Amino acid sequence: MTLEPSTGSSTRIRHVEAISNGTVVDHIPAIATLKVAQLLTGSNDQVFVGMNLRSSRGGRKGVVKIAGRELDQRTLSCLALLAPGATVSIIRNYEVAEKITVPVPERFEGVAKCANPNCVTTHEKWTTRFAVVCKDPLTVRCIYCERSFAAADLSLL
Ligand SMILES: [Zn+2]
Repeated sequence: MTLEPSTGSSTRIRHVEAISNGTVVDHIPAIATLKVAQLLTGSNDQVFVGMNLRSSRGGRKGVVKIAGRELDQRTLSCLALLAPGATVSIIRNYEVAEKITVPVPERFEGVAKCANPNCVTTHEKWTTRFAVVCKDPLTVRCIYCERSFAAADLSLL
């Protein structure tokens, strides 16, 4: 997809990039690509990262592929926070078995830190909870200190 197939070596690289089973996350906002790669990288997973690729939606995007793994609910929730609008394709036997746009939940629980240093959740071990106040651009409000944040400004727990 992103490589020129003109030489033998790039054909080989492309072969390595194709995954037989796993997950492809596409349409990641370009600036969030590394955060998403970090989120999805477990200790033994093979992960392939494409950055600053041309997007059919216009602008630039990132793509992350993980071999041999499908994403659990919590990871999807983190992904919704980091990369709203991204698509997730489940690959089985080299084919797309399922493709979804990452669903943005009404609330995010226990996935990100509140960015307000005075918030009770930064001092006590409380589960953070954010309500979604706007989906585009994704904006959330901490239900404890009631401050609103751009999702892109929050860090994951
Ligand atoms: Zn807060």
